[in-house]
Amino acid sequence: MKLTKQKIVELLENSDNQDDLFHRADLIRKKNVGDSVFLRGLIEFSNFCRNSCFYCGIRRENAQIKRYRLTPDEIISLARGAVQLGFKTIVLQSGEDVGYSCDDLCRVIEEIKKMDVALTLSIGEREYEEYAAFKNCGADRYLMRIETTDKKLYHQLHPKMSWQHRYECLMMIKELGYELGSGILVGLPNQSLESIADDLLFLQKIGIDMAGIGPFIAHPNTPLKNCLSGTLDLSLRAMSVIRLLMPDINIPATTAMETLEKKGRIRALKAGANVVMPNVTDSLHRSFYELYPNKACLNDGVAHCYACLNLQIQSIGRKIGTGYGSHVKNSVKK
Ligand code: SAM
Repeated sequence: MKLTKQKIVELLENSDNQDDLFHRADLIRKKNVGDSVFLRGLIEFSNFCRNSCFYCGIRRENAQIKRYRLTPDEIISLARGAVQLGFKTIVLQSGEDVGYSCDDLCRVIEEIKKMDVALTLSIGEREYEEYAAFKNCGADRYLMRIETTDKKLYHQLHPKMSWQHRYECLMMIKELGYELGSGILVGLPNQSLESIADDLLFLQKIGIDMAGIGPFIAHPNTPLKNCLSGTLDLSLRAMSVIRLLMPDINIPATTAMETLEKKGRIRALKAGANVVMPNVTDSLHRSFYELYPNKACLNDGVAHCYACLNLQIQSIGRKIGTGYGSHVKNSVKK
């Protein structure tokens, strides 16, 4: 669907009529991607990061967290456990950790791909040759948020990083044939509704396959500790607008939404979302991957999480998807 920037700003600011927007997005979701909710098992395999993103709890300057790096065998074993529970997609996420070689990661990808699942990587900015090697080993999808398209704001929040380089990485990933997931943070300090509208139009323009739209949540050990966090309502409105703009893509109900409000994820599933990414990292390491405080479901075991989500999803008349949950336009592929 085409929407002007002005129309998007109106939708983002109109909290009185947000239920109409959510309902419209829900109908579009149903028509284009159906009632299945696809679960992705998220493995947060390392919290080492070379970057200093102002909002992020695992930024390199945060000396308060215990750093961990799972071995390739530990990652493979977590994936196996998740697959045995029924997950059909595994997402491997980490900080930008230079402690793994390309060969280490390729071996992990190859082993997990033997388990008959789709595999998503979310490990940040890498060299073209590395993205190509991961793809050749079988990685199917790549998830990297642009965070904001306001370049001034981006450079204020990401010291020593380049917006242009992140954008170029997204283009490389797309060109290599990955399904591309990207998205934004909602409620960053000095982020206007116009800027969020630009972000959503950008995501539409580059043709993403998955949109991760989540609220910024202030972390006490970061430079943004005294800033207000984003709100669930504005994040949901932004998410619903992307469903209007891109009717058939995958859209996760994010953990950050559930963190801001219990049942935030269910509200998201009723406002355009069709994916949930439960954490399948072992409980020992999970708490150290603290991007923001009070993460939802932090202490819930994987089997418990799966069962709880299943009940919640059924309670809104939906069901857990049984396939790989690719972008419907690619659904014959993984
Ligand atoms: N290193 C990879 C990358 O750069 O894409 C993946 C890991 S990164 C920690 C994953 C995402 O966490 C980021 O894209 C960001 O949007 C989100 N994030 C980090 N800190 C956050 C915060 N304080 N509140 C909400 N989301 C946050």
